[in-house]
Amino acid sequence: VGPVGVLALQGDFREHARVLSSFGADVITVRRPSELALVSGLVIPGGESSVIDKLSRMFGLAEPLKAAIAAGLPVYGTCAGLIMLADTVRDAIAGQQSFGGLDIVVRRNAFGNQRESFEVDLDVPELGDPAVHAVFIRAPVVEEVGERASILAALDDGRVIAVEQGNLLGTSFHPEMTDDYRFHRRFYNRVLATAFHS
Ligand code: GLN
Repeated sequence: VGPVGVLALQGDFREHARVLSSFGADVITVRRPSELALVSGLVIPGGESSVIDKLSRMFGLAEPLKAAIAAGLPVYGTCAGLIMLADTVRDAIAGQQSFGGLDIVVRRNAFGNQRESFEVDLDVPELGDPAVHAVFIRAPVVEEVGERASILAALDDGRVIAVEQGNLLGTSFHPEMTDDYRFHRRFYNRVLATAFHS
């Protein structure tokens, strides 16, 4: 397999690079199409989705990334990264686009101002015990899950915050801010199993 990329246009990409490096992965930052072409997997970090969208189009990265996603590139999106992977985005800013790939509808900033950030222990059946300590920061929620996507975790009130669809994985929260890397490990196992190259 080739290196694992971390989309480094904006947001907390360094934390993701650190987690993936701890697995022994060869990690590179991705800002341009020539870098994207090298990777066997990609993490899209948290940050601000409207900025990641704008910069990805400015750098000519949006179209090649959409093509790579369609061709089966394993991608893990957290928070803003989940928004970028959603086919449909609610409460987007005017003209905001996503890369898409996940058959879901997400709403940005879905927890409102009074709950800008919070932490909960999440039961994630696919990951077993113990519960995942999840950190949410101006997080999106998955409001609709299409036929092709499946739910990995939901809050007690039923709101969906982790999904998977083939090689695509998305969480509303930030495992890179904790010391529980099971979501990253799940993504990295997928990278190793897929051995994608463009
Ligand atoms: N609210 C941000 C957005 O819309 C996401 C926040 C985050 O990534 N922590 O992109």
